[in-house]
Amino acid sequence: MNKEDQLIARIQKRLSLRGGGTDRDAGLSLGSGDDACVLRATPGREWVASADAFLENVHFVRRLHPPASIGYKALARATSDLAAMGAKPRSYLLSLALPTRLPKRWLDGFLAGMARAARKFGMGLAGGDTSRAPAIAINLTVLGEVRKGRALLRSGARPGDRIFVTGHLGAAQLGLEIILRRLSGQANLRRYLVPHLHPDPPIALAQWLSRRELPSSMMDLSDGLSTDLDRLCRSSGVGASVREASLPLIRVPDSLVHRGFSIPNLALHGGEDYQLLFTVPARAASRIPPTRDGVRITEIGEIVRGRDVLLISADGKSAPLTPRGWDHFSRTRARPK
Ligand SMILES: [Mg+2]
Repeated sequence: MNKEDQLIARIQKRLSLRGGGTDRDAGLSLGSGDDACVLRATPGREWVASADAFLENVHFVRRLHPPASIGYKALARATSDLAAMGAKPRSYLLSLALPTRLPKRWLDGFLAGMARAARKFGMGLAGGDTSRAPAIAINLTVLGEVRKGRALLRSGARPGDRIFVTGHLGAAQLGLEIILRRLSGQANLRRYLVPHLHPDPPIALAQWLSRRELPSSMMDLSDGLSTDLDRLCRSSGVGASVREASLPLIRVPDSLVHRGFSIPNLALHGGEDYQLLFTVPARAASRIPPTRDGVRITEIGEIVRGRDVLLISADGKSAPLTPRGWDHFSRTRARPK
């Protein structure tokens, strides 16, 4: 076996389906190991696919982020896009570019993290590719299934629909800021790192919403509420009105507020939450429970006519909610996100 074959064998071994899972469970007639995989479609369903790049020094920094978190998060953030469509995750293709002088320990940690995510989301490795590169580049293609014609789109929101989000907004960005400000050694802050290092997209909840046909539109929150809500509104050709007082904020120790952390700003603009943003027609809004599968669901506002996305403050004043979330192409300096 040459070096590349050894690396591929290592990846296949670490990411192989364990715990009784088979290629068939992952929607595959033929899994990884040949020139290509063969997908098996379940009758009455259609495939949903999405690709995601997770890059060293752009999305993560080797010195700050543990390898297991990088492996876990790479698959979690890709799979979040399947959840956003209401799809059931099935399998994934991993294209991995690694520097030559990467310690084996790093690769083992990375693969263990990715295996953990794959088990959690019920996905099997369908194939992939490896190559050498100056920095680590993780490219994932994820595949899921949805009932024919039932994929939840960004374009279905209509005036009068209620706007909902899951989880607590800004939690992932708070974790990143704690790491960047070198506060992650403080024991009372450690739990705030979890949403940044190990995001937990609400996949079961997304499928439940899809089965009940409740949302008129849905997407995942990857770049911050202000940016993602603007995208949803543009896709649907509508505006929105968000009540600031309704936003599900993270509760933090006073010490963080005194250090200048603005929790409302994190909720509006913080990226990488991998929670859901969806709209429901007003008549069905009462069928959305306050929590499901341990995930909080909060109504934060309403879809309106026109194109404006407004934020209504507690004292009733309204101001444009300008997209200020993550934008790869607007910054000159790479910053881990
Ligand atoms: Mg998305």
